[in-house]
Amino acid sequence: MTLNADAQELAKFSELAHRWWDPDSEFRPLHQINPLRLEWIDGLAQLRGKVVVDIGCGGGILAEAMAQRATHVTGADLAARPLGVARLHALETGVSNIEYREIAAEALAAERPGSYDVVTCMEMLEHVPDPSSVVHACSALVKPGGWVFFSTLNRNPKAFLFAIVGAEYVLQLLPKGTHEYAKFIRPSELSRWCRDAGLSVQGSRGMQYNPLSKRYWLSADTSVNYLIACRKPV
Ligand code: SAH
Repeated sequence: MTLNADAQELAKFSELAHRWWDPDSEFRPLHQINPLRLEWIDGLAQLRGKVVVDIGCGGGILAEAMAQRATHVTGADLAARPLGVARLHALETGVSNIEYREIAAEALAAERPGSYDVVTCMEMLEHVPDPSSVVHACSALVKPGGWVFFSTLNRNPKAFLFAIVGAEYVLQLLPKGTHEYAKFIRPSELSRWCRDAGLSVQGSRGMQYNPLSKRYWLSADTSVNYLIACRKPV
C-alpha cells in the first residue's frame, strides 16, 4: 500500500511546528476557529463519555480541547514535529487522556476498525493526494451510530479570492503557499465521498471571517470554509 501523503505538505507543517501553540503565529486562524468548531461538534456528538480520534491533528489544538470533554482522544498525523509539539503541550497542560500517533488514517483504520464514537478530520483533506481514501478510513474508524466531522475549503472563484488571495496575500493570515486551489473540495464532492463510504450527511456549516473585527463565526454560507457532519448508520 502506498502512503496517501504528500511529503512536501508534511514538511511545511513540520517547519512551523514550534509555533503551533503561539496564538499570534501562522496558526492564529486555527486558534480562533477552535471554540466554534468544538461547540458545533460537541453540540451534535456530545463528547462527554466518548472515545474520539482526530485525523491530521497537527499540534493538537482541537484534539486537546476535545480531550478536556471526552473520555479519550487519539490524535493521528504523519508529520513528526507537530506530533512532538502536541505531546509536549498535553504534558504541560496535564491532559493525560490523549494519545498521539504517527500513522496514516488508512493504517489506523485497518488497526482499529469501528473503534471510535467520534472522528474528526479538520483542515486536512485539502493537503492529501487522495482525500476520498481518508474519508473511507474515517468511516471505517467510526462505530455504527457514531459521528464523523470534516472541514475543508470549497472550490469556486470566491474561495480562490478569499482563501488564497485574501488570507495569504492581502491579510497575510496564512503563509503564502499554504493552500493550493486545485485541491479545494466542493461540498457536493465531499458529500458524495461520504455517501460512497457509507456515511450519511447530517448537516454543514460555513465559516465566515470579518477582517475588520478579526472575528470568525459559523453560518449557513459554505462558499469558502465549511464543515460537514456525518453519521454512520446503525
Ligand atoms: N487538524 C488540525 C491541523 C490542521 S493543519 C487543526 O485543524 O487544528 C493540517 C494537518 O494535516 C497538518 O498537521 C499536517 O501534518 C496534516 N497532514 C497533511 N497530510 C497528511 C496525511 N496524509 N496524513 C495525516 N496528516 C496529514
